[in-house]
Amino acid sequence: MPKRVDFLVVGSGIAGLTFATKVAHLGETLILTKKRKADTNTNYAQGGIAAVFGKDDSFKNHIKDTLMVGEGLCHCKAVEIMVKQGPRLVKELHDMGCRFSTSNGKTFDLGKEGGHSQRRIVHAKDFTGWEIERILLEEAKKEGVTISENEIVLDLIIQHEKCIGIYYFEADTQKINTLFANVTVLATGGAGQVYLHTTNPSIATGDGIAMAYRAGAKIANMEFVQFHPTAVYNIKIEGRSFLISEAVRGEGGVLKTKDGVPFMHKYSHSGNLAPRDVVARACVSEMLKTEAKYVLLDISHRRAAFIKKRFPTIYETCLRWGIDVTREPIPVVPTAHYLCGGILVNTWGESSIPRLFALGECACTGVHGANRLASNSLLEALVFATRASQKIKSVKSMKIHKHFKMKKAAARIGPNFKLAIKELMHQYCGVIKTEYGLEEAKHSIDRYSQQFDDGIHLINAESRNITDVAKLIIESALLRKESRGLHYIQEYPHKNKKFLKDTIVKKEQ
Ligand SMILES: Cc1cc2nc3c(=O)[nH]c(=O)nc-3n(C[C@H](O)[C@H](O)[C@H](O)COP(=O)(O)OP(=O)(O)OC[C@H]3O[C@@H](n4cnc5c(N)ncnc54)[C@H](O)[C@@H]3O)c2cc1C
Repeated sequence: MPKRVDFLVVGSGIAGLTFATKVAHLGETLILTKKRKADTNTNYAQGGIAAVFGKDDSFKNHIKDTLMVGEGLCHCKAVEIMVKQGPRLVKELHDMGCRFSTSNGKTFDLGKEGGHSQRRIVHAKDFTGWEIERILLEEAKKEGVTISENEIVLDLIIQHEKCIGIYYFEADTQKINTLFANVTVLATGGAGQVYLHTTNPSIATGDGIAMAYRAGAKIANMEFVQFHPTAVYNIKIEGRSFLISEAVRGEGGVLKTKDGVPFMHKYSHSGNLAPRDVVARACVSEMLKTEAKYVLLDISHRRAAFIKKRFPTIYETCLRWGIDVTREPIPVVPTAHYLCGGILVNTWGESSIPRLFALGECACTGVHGANRLASNSLLEALVFATRASQKIKSVKSMKIHKHFKMKKAAARIGPNFKLAIKELMHQYCGVIKTEYGLEEAKHSIDRYSQQFDDGIHLINAESRNITDVAKLIIESALLRKESRGLHYIQEYPHKNKKFLKDTIVKKEQ
């Protein structure tokens, strides 16, 4: 392993791979990833990537839909950039060989999802993320990007308030080591694993956000956690709940109570295609009313041949669990899915710490505001990773001061609080929160976080990261005394203009 590279990227999902493939010709580019290359959230994205291609669609429409769902907190400039630069980059993926579904082999077969006024979801059947990951890994190889697997990045190295590299656990030597870089990029994905039930794979423990927070970066809008309304009830694959894509409702799927009564018309004039926060709250309300552990999602009225062709993964996976979606409804529950907040960055992906960039789900560009419009996250990662690759041309080469002293390993091994915190977040920080519950959660999380010493933690590093991220979510939720978008708190059920701003937190150094 080199001691120093030009561009160091942490994470091999859409954000990390896009950035790396675009800068590899400018200097030595290394991706470190904590499991195997394709162990990413990206790999599991089903629905697709939103971009304006439809003949009745326009940038104006996509911007309007994004702002509407974001409920006043979207950064308008970032939204405009994402929407306008998106189609060219989606087309670029297609030109690389990404096999997006097309009608008659020519134009993209555009799907429709909740909150979108038009059909604009470019997809590869229902395994879009897998296909994007595949093509970007191929491209990275062609461009000469080195990807090193099973390397766990533990903390950032900050010198004179700049990020100059990372501490990591080196797979080869089985030691904690340092790696210096001109530019360090966090592309570590989401934090669904902070919750008991999540659609996110096991890598999604919010490591990048926790590391950036500990290093003194600004972290924004952590209270906005998106719960996907329709994950299959009580069935998990490697700790991850199986998601039934929003596109199923886009193609006519209907949510019903356990007794088979449709209910979404009572909650929104958009019915089953209402934005995710509305649908998730409606599902929880109906579950409480009927004392049921799940609601039903029914697409069995569509032709079996259509379902099998349009949703092959969903059809086959459910069938393996004994649910034939062509003949019967699927039991579903809302599940932690996506984090709108993260490391605060500008429209070039730069964080508040010089030489540290953050891209993809671990970043907060502000495009999602208080709620993410479906299929805007792959797009966000693609657009801002590309912009960051353009920006780094102006980053000058860095000197490492001779008196640099490596931080010590923590004196005590941190405890493993993973399960306790997941249960805490499930109980107090779900779709519907209360101030009392959040206070209880804060009390517990403060006790947990006091158990971790300063210094580099290897054993239970994820437990420490989960603790930091849970603390950020709870504290940010307590600061926002209103309900807006994904943040619903019973004591303050309405929006309040006073809170028409980002929640920004920063650790005093
Ligand atoms: C089931 C599911 C379906 C989804 N469907 C859609 C969809 O249809 N459309 C859409 O737009 N979005 C969708 N999303 C969201 C979208 O997939 C993610 O937001 C996006 O893929 C995030 O990409 P990323 O590159 O930021 O992170 P990821 O793809 O999650 O990659 C993170 C990388 O960081 C690495 N990493 C993390 N911590 C460390 C560490 N400490 N050291 C080293 N490496 C580390 C991981 O190993 C991984 O390689 C979906 C998400 C899920 C889970």
